[in-house]
Amino acid sequence: MKKLILIAVVFLWSSVPSVAEVTLSQVFSESDGMNRMLAAIETSTHMTTAYTGVKAISQEVMTAMAKVDRAQFVPEHSVHDAFENQPLRIGYGQTISQPFIVALMLHLLQLQPDDRVLEVGTGSGYQAAVTAELAAHVHTIEIIPELARSADRRLKSLGYTNISVRTGDGWYGWPEEAPFDGILITAVAQEVPPQLLAQLAVGGRLVMPVGEVWGDQELVLLTLDTTGVINTREVLPVRFVPMTGEGILTLRDSRQHQ
Ligand code: SAM
Repeated sequence: MKKLILIAVVFLWSSVPSVAEVTLSQVFSESDGMNRMLAAIETSTHMTTAYTGVKAISQEVMTAMAKVDRAQFVPEHSVHDAFENQPLRIGYGQTISQPFIVALMLHLLQLQPDDRVLEVGTGSGYQAAVTAELAAHVHTIEIIPELARSADRRLKSLGYTNISVRTGDGWYGWPEEAPFDGILITAVAQEVPPQLLAQLAVGGRLVMPVGEVWGDQELVLLTLDTTGVINTREVLPVRFVPMTGEGILTLRDSRQHQ
């Protein structure tokens, strides 16, 4: 009997080390991937300094980027590309943004630990997670209900308690929670939605791609100074998926009637 128990224990034990080895090698390849991703962000930052005026992404943003495992936010078939400095498909015709662009947008917002942020375009929830490492609370809106639900589940399972996800048309913002110190919009529109500007706190910053869906797009930074003046700066030519929903259609309709 003792011999049988010993054989059983040896059999079980022999299967355990391989599990431990896989976990360790995963940890190492993940940290390699993360280091590669952070280095690629630095390279892209240097290569675009002439446009952006940004010589280096702030240490706070780089630290936040290093804390969030992008592999948790991409579909299973893209996990091996999770740390590449490129956008990836997340289903429903949408993408998770390029890590450099996520870092640049957050650098431009200059968030403080007690800031409250609005994000329009939750997608996978990745950018909301990085933002939540830098600010007190992130309110994020996604128009595709399936993406909003899965991002909400994912963020909760990762332990984020300072992110609220809502399904809806982000064109109208989240007025009940306004004003926001920072607003991030991750889909392109021809204009900054006026409702979102109205939800920006004094001294707040808004970053979004502005332009044509299939044409020129520019990442734009708006700052609302303490005298109520809005300063606008074009930062970098970019390529984003379009903002959809009824809000943006009202803009097109009003233009056609002008
Ligand atoms: N921030 C996302 C991430 O980290 O995965 C990537 C966002 S993806 C580039 C843009 C997202 O904006 C898409 O998921 C799209 O469905 C969403 N979107 C487009 N129009 C929207 C609207 N009017 N309101 C809210 N979300 C919108």
